Amino acid sequence: MAHGIDTPDAPSGTDTQVIVVGAGPVGLMLAGELRLGGADVIVLERLTSPTTESRASTLHARTMEILDSRGLLEMIGTPPNEPRGHFGGIPLDLTLPGPYPGQWKVPQTRTEEVLQEWALSLGADVRRGHEVRGLSVHPDHVEIEATGPGGPVRLRALCVVGCDGENSAVRRLGGADFPSEDAARELIRADVAGIDIPDRRFERLENGLAIAARRSDGVTRVMVHEFGRAPRPRTGEPDFGEIVAAWRRVTGEDISGGTPLWVNAFGDAHGQLTSYRHGRVLFAGDAAHQQMPIGGQALNLGLQDAVNLGWKLAVQVSRRGSEGLLDSYHNERHPVGARVLSNIRAQATLLLGGPEVEPIRAVFAEIAATDAGRAHLAGMISGLDVRYEMDGGPADGVGGAGHPLLGRRLPPTSLRTDEGETGTAVLLRRGRGLLLNISGSGSGGGSGGGSEPASERLDGLRRAARPWADRVTTVTATVPAGSPLADAGAVLVRPDGHIAWTGHGTDGLTTALERWLGLARPRPASRRTEHKNTTKRRYDMGKLTGKTALVTGSSRGMGRATAIRLAQEGALVAVHYATNKEAADEVVATIEKDGGSGFAVRAELGVPGDVHELFLGLERGLKERTGSTELNILVNNAGVMGGVAVAETTPEAFDRLVAVNARAPFFIIQRALKNIPSGGRIINISSGLTRFANPDEIAYAMTKGAVEQLALHFAKLLGPRNITINSVAPGITRNGSPVFDIPEAVEQMAGLSAFNRVGEPEDVADVVAFLAGDEARWITGSFVDATGGTLLG
Ligand code: NAP
Repeated sequence: MAHGIDTPDAPSGTDTQVIVVGAGPVGLMLAGELRLGGADVIVLERLTSPTTESRASTLHARTMEILDSRGLLEMIGTPPNEPRGHFGGIPLDLTLPGPYPGQWKVPQTRTEEVLQEWALSLGADVRRGHEVRGLSVHPDHVEIEATGPGGPVRLRALCVVGCDGENSAVRRLGGADFPSEDAARELIRADVAGIDIPDRRFERLENGLAIAARRSDGVTRVMVHEFGRAPRPRTGEPDFGEIVAAWRRVTGEDISGGTPLWVNAFGDAHGQLTSYRHGRVLFAGDAAHQQMPIGGQALNLGLQDAVNLGWKLAVQVSRRGSEGLLDSYHNERHPVGARVLSNIRAQATLLLGGPEVEPIRAVFAEIAATDAGRAHLAGMISGLDVRYEMDGGPADGVGGAGHPLLGRRLPPTSLRTDEGETGTAVLLRRGRGLLLNISGSGSGGGSGGGSEPASERLDGLRRAARPWADRVTTVTATVPAGSPLADAGAVLVRPDGHIAWTGHGTDGLTTALERWLGLARPRPASRRTEHKNTTKRRYDMGKLTGKTALVTGSSRGMGRATAIRLAQEGALVAVHYATNKEAADEVVATIEKDGGSGFAVRAELGVPGDVHELFLGLERGLKERTGSTELNILVNNAGVMGGVAVAETTPEAFDRLVAVNARAPFFIIQRALKNIPSGGRIINISSGLTRFANPDEIAYAMTKGAVEQLALHFAKLLGPRNITINSVAPGITRNGSPVFDIPEAVEQMAGLSAFNRVGEPEDVADVVAFLAGDEARWITGSFVDATGGTLLG
């Protein structure tokens, strides 16, 4: 299958990079993973609000580890733990070594709530009340038709992922081959109040299976299956009379006096897509595989599909995906799904089969009672035994191909790094690749075995991984004595936590990095980054070529100089203004005259609807020229000056200063986060007056003090998205103000600077351009003094 979701070149006119259909746990997990990887995502969900049905409530050990590796367990808290599980009703201890042994009970509603909050915080665009009705696949994009709250919606993206459950509309509309078998048996269940019957845990009686469990609120959950009885044809849920009769036939007990709170039936229907990927259309969760809900494996399987797919898809849509990267999603997850389906069918047979399965159950119970048998089954159900096939890596006898850890999850452990004690889960939080250099084990022993001491190896690893520095974190750590990592030398861990390479030198590392984390540089630019431009493109080779920028208030002054400067570096610049259209048009003309690209956008800031109006124009302009609404650089420059003594400052004037200078930047950032991908830059223009007293500018300086807070706090929030945010504080800088035409005034102002001159707009524009470029990737949350030494005192 071709690897190019991002090829051929032209994802023209797309609304987003990925559309995820379904905002259940799998769709939300995928959306979060895509955002962590820097991909734009819109999630379409049919339901207008999250489901309140309890559905799946079991999280297994591997899922818990994954949630931990994204920092999500902190949001979930410590759920009740149940070490006891079962296999087809045969008791089975599910605990295996690891931080989260056994089963963890979290209502699906809570899992969804947490995943949604996380995905939204990362910038996913979740749209509820959207039912998908049409899907068409084109050579360079997919198009989805949906009914939305405001009428029909058409959206284009590079690809779509169906996470829309067992009755997947995407699967139906895409015509994907889904071999399946209808249910041959069913369990009917009900929550009944007002009955007093003994608890039964998977009791196989003469005529059928009965399960009864009384909850602390007095309600009893009953489940019953009559051996040999096929599911009844019915259109809706079974009625209570049906379960009363079945319960009587199987147990002899009468529960007809109870009050049914909920009645439902589920069968052993099962199916699995032949392929999880059909070009630009992919599937995850129940849309890809249908199984009987026994033991809570379906939800876990789906979440793990999402975590396998998200980062691969993000790499692919960034035009860096290696040949076959995306196909590895099907190649890795289809066999895992098939194995789970098979164990669920085996369990259904053991649980719902008639007396003829008793001998098999007896043999099975014996095997499950052995250490090896129990560990094998627990590994399968918990998801801890998943091992993907990894190619590449040196066969050096210690690490590399054939190392027992290769393809497995990074074993969770505590580590000692230069920065102190930490854990493997913490190192994976950002969803990046991890190159872990093992410097020894807690026994104090050496370099972790192998040929090269860890300190020397580190230099080699750093050199090899440098082209991937934006996607891979390199860490040296000591592991506890006896850790399976102790002899590994170094390991490369994929964002999903699976080990892709181990070695004692660097042989094979570059191949593995390229294979899994993507090409060091994107493939040649598509039309998406080639700005429409009829004049010669002098600035094509600038450091911001292919980037898009918004500079607010760029019709004049420093904003103007910044817009021109960013365009000189190759960025497509949105020149924003409030009233002075002529001035903004002049800036665009200047940019274009020199072979750059820009367009003007009007919106008055500080008034109701300001941000909405700004983004209408911005997104329209970006889309026309790039086919996307991606914004790489945001410069919050527009501002109104104060220059009013304390006594003359009216509440209205004060409110206006706050609205334009402080409120607008906050909400512009809030809105822009939907558009800003990984590597994005936000630069807010403050003022030297936050550190230089001037009693005539108190209210104005207050607004700039507020603007500086944006960098501090947003930097923390946006670091995981690889977006930087900084404040630039100009001193007195020449703008169109008449005061700069008065020589005495200029001389006096010049005296404030260490260079004895007033600033020119270009002095500040150069600083902004630096922060906007790749060289400034390590600077975030900073206050950058661009006052020409005015603050030196
Ligand atoms: P300027 O020449 O006065 O230009 C202001 C720009 O902001 C214009 O493009 C203007 O658009 C726009 N603008 C003003 N109010 C707006 C509103 N309510 N809605 C939308 N756009 C609005 O600016 P500057 O002197 O270069 O200053 C730029 C930034 O640097 C400001 O944040 C300022 O506070 C800060 N700063 C300036 C100095 C200085 O000495 N110049 C010193 C320190 C900090 P229109 O043309 O359409 O009106």
